[in-house]
Formats: sequence, structure tokens, C-alpha cells
Amino acid sequence: MSERKKLVAGNWKMNGSLAANQALVQALRQGVGQPACDVAVCPPSVYLGQLQQLLAGQTAIALGAQDLSQHEGGAFTGDVSATMLKDFGVRYAIVGHSERRQHQGETDLQVALKVRRALAAGITPIVCVGETLREREEGLTEFIVKRQLSAVLHLNGHAINETVVAYEPVWAIGTGQTATPAQAQSVHAVLRAQLRAAGAQAEHVRILYGGSMNAGNAAELLAQPDIDGGLIGGAALKAPDFLTIVAAAA
Ligand code: PEP
Repeated sequence: MSERKKLVAGNWKMNGSLAANQALVQALRQGVGQPACDVAVCPPSVYLGQLQQLLAGQTAIALGAQDLSQHEGGAFTGDVSATMLKDFGVRYAIVGHSERRQHQGETDLQVALKVRRALAAGITPIVCVGETLREREEGLTEFIVKRQLSAVLHLNGHAINETVVAYEPVWAIGTGQTATPAQAQSVHAVLRAQLRAAGAQAEHVRILYGGSMNAGNAAELLAQPDIDGGLIGGAALKAPDFLTIVAAAA
């Protein structure tokens, strides 16, 4: 039995509206009960204030952000700092999602700097790593995820114990093509071994799986010894599906 409490985090990506968010959170609050795992929702940053209010008065569902700036503050138009997120009760922040690496050109170093900012503000970063289909086909999966995590380890040292890692194979995100439980488990084991070798408390660090996890496949993935929860995209926008995943994690 793992000593790690599972975490299920919903990445809403660039979806939602005031009305849709209200309906979704209402359904989640009604259905979540007292979950045996940690639960978070990560809306677009413009809705964090709304979500803070919608989630007030309960502790079952925490608030997360999808990104944060690597800078403390100042002339960085459009960016949002860790301190600002903290102001809105943000508990988790996704960092280095493959969509940001791909579309915004985020580098391993930037990701590591963002992790440092989050930790300094008391926000738990959810650090995403994962290989593309081509990298997998070329046998580079291990090399890529280790390179991505090693940048974060290098800059943050033992603070890595306070982070969450998410293995998200790029080819599985939003495609409906989930990694098999065995494929995911084997990469999770590699990442945990890397954490251990770096002197981290590897048995305490949660490693989530993300990539087309849904109500139908969650239980099998979450039963793997090194899979400590899920980072959920599409299925996080449907309350019954997200709640089924939360139940599977518990
Ligand atoms: C994600 O965006 O992190 C994700 C895993 O998306 P999806 O579940 O839609 O594949």
C-alpha cells in the first residue's frame, strides 16, 4: 500500500465561461463528498477569482493554475506571478505542460525557474514531462523525460520533495490514445528511480499520469504501483466523468 495520497487534478485548458464554470463546480461540489484522495481544478487564470468564490467553504476541491511566470513581477505583459496566484488561494500550479512547451516554446530551464517561483510562494508545482510520438518511436522516451526532470532537479535540489510530477506522453494528450497501464508504469518507475538517485524522498513524491485518462480507463491506470493520481484534460470538463476518476483514485 503506497504511503502517497493520490491526487486527481483537472486541467480545464482554455475552456469555460462564467456560466459553465458555475455549473461544473456546483456539480463537482454536490458529487465529490469526502474524497480519500486530493482533488484540484485548474481553470484559465482569468477565472481564478470566480473559482475561489465557488470553492469557498469546502476543502474537498483545491484550486490550481495552469501556468505561472518565472519572474517575480514587473514589466512582463500578460504574465501572472506566483504571488498573485497565491492571493487567489491557488494551491497547485501546472508547470511545463507540453502545450506550453510546444506553442510557447517553453524550455526545460524556464520550467525549472517556474517551479522555483511556485515553491517560493508556497504553491505546489505539478511538473509535466513527456515524450512525443516520434521520440517514443525512436526509443528516446527515457532520455527525454529524464532530461526534462533533471533540469527541475538541478535548479531546485531537495525542494523537489514538495513538487508533484506528471508523466504526460504528448501522443496521448487529447488524442484518446491512452498509454497502456504497463507503458505508463514503466516510465513512472524510471522517474521515481531518477528522484531516488538524486537524493529526493522518492517514495513521498507523487507522480501523476496524464493523457486521455477517462472514466473508463482510470481504475486500471491508478492501480499501478507508481501511478499516484491523474492530470485530466477533456474528462475534467464533465462532472460525472471527473467524479468517476476521483472515485477510482480513492
Ligand atoms: C492534459 O491536458 O494534461 C491532458 C492530460 O489532457 P487529456 O486528458 O484531454 O488528454
